[in-house]
Amino acid sequence: MTSIIFHPKYHAEIGNHVMQIDKYKKIFDRLNALNIKKQNFCKPLKANIKELTLVHSSEYIHEFLSGKHTSKTISSELPLDNHIADFFLYATGGTILAAKKALQKNYAINLNGGFHHAFKNKAEGFCYINDIAVAIAVLQNESKIKRALVIDCDLHQGNGTARIFRNDDRVFTFSIHQQNIYPIKEKSDLDIGLYDLTGDNDYLGHIEKIIPKILNSHRPELVIYQAGADPFSGDQLGSLKITKKGLQKRDELVIESCKKLSIPIAGTLGGGYAEDPEDTVDIHLQTSLSFINA
Ligand SMILES: [Zn+2]
Repeated sequence: MTSIIFHPKYHAEIGNHVMQIDKYKKIFDRLNALNIKKQNFCKPLKANIKELTLVHSSEYIHEFLSGKHTSKTISSELPLDNHIADFFLYATGGTILAAKKALQKNYAINLNGGFHHAFKNKAEGFCYINDIAVAIAVLQNESKIKRALVIDCDLHQGNGTARIFRNDDRVFTFSIHQQNIYPIKEKSDLDIGLYDLTGDNDYLGHIEKIIPKILNSHRPELVIYQAGADPFSGDQLGSLKITKKGLQKRDELVIESCKKLSIPIAGTLGGGYAEDPEDTVDIHLQTSLSFINA
């Protein structure tokens, strides 16, 4: 049984912004309308300072929790107040819980998370806390896992995650992204930078070939999957040409590859900025359903 992680605090007021923060509740509502068993849903706690500082510096966390912008937090390109800070603390708690549930049941999805542009000491690209890195660090710190793999299929490179785990042999970072856009690239253990206008065939060809290879060579005890919706052809921030069906196939290939080797996988949603916000919700919903049906 797949655990689905959600909290009512997966919302905050950020004004008129390209980040579609309403999407989290909409996905939850649509899943609820589908008659999914109540016991599948779990509520996370807020990530605490001890957990956050396994990855981030105490100085940065202190500035973030102050709820006011400093030179380290303003690079998020998001506003900051206590409600927005809480949104990120619950989102991170959600990815920690998804990772723990995945270890028990093989599959879990946080209906939030994937904030892969956050660094140890600074925010970037709508990301204050790197929930993926924190979740891995928490499980390692509790001796629940040693080796982990991050599969990052967001439109944008997982630069923060790559940097955080750059010198850590226990965590393999893989990112497949559009090459010629934000961010300034860090070095993941494996990067595939895609040309503008890449379509389903090339995209899925890479996924189908690479993921089983990495799983076999690194042999992780846990996979965290950043299932960004922004490679979609209708996205405002990119120019990949991946269809909804293509993204669904991508999710299935990733989950299926883990299933074949009985490797637990925890999903996070990541970015999504479709011209029509309902498209973003559709794509995240189909990712959630691929986990539920795994
Ligand atoms: Zn993105």
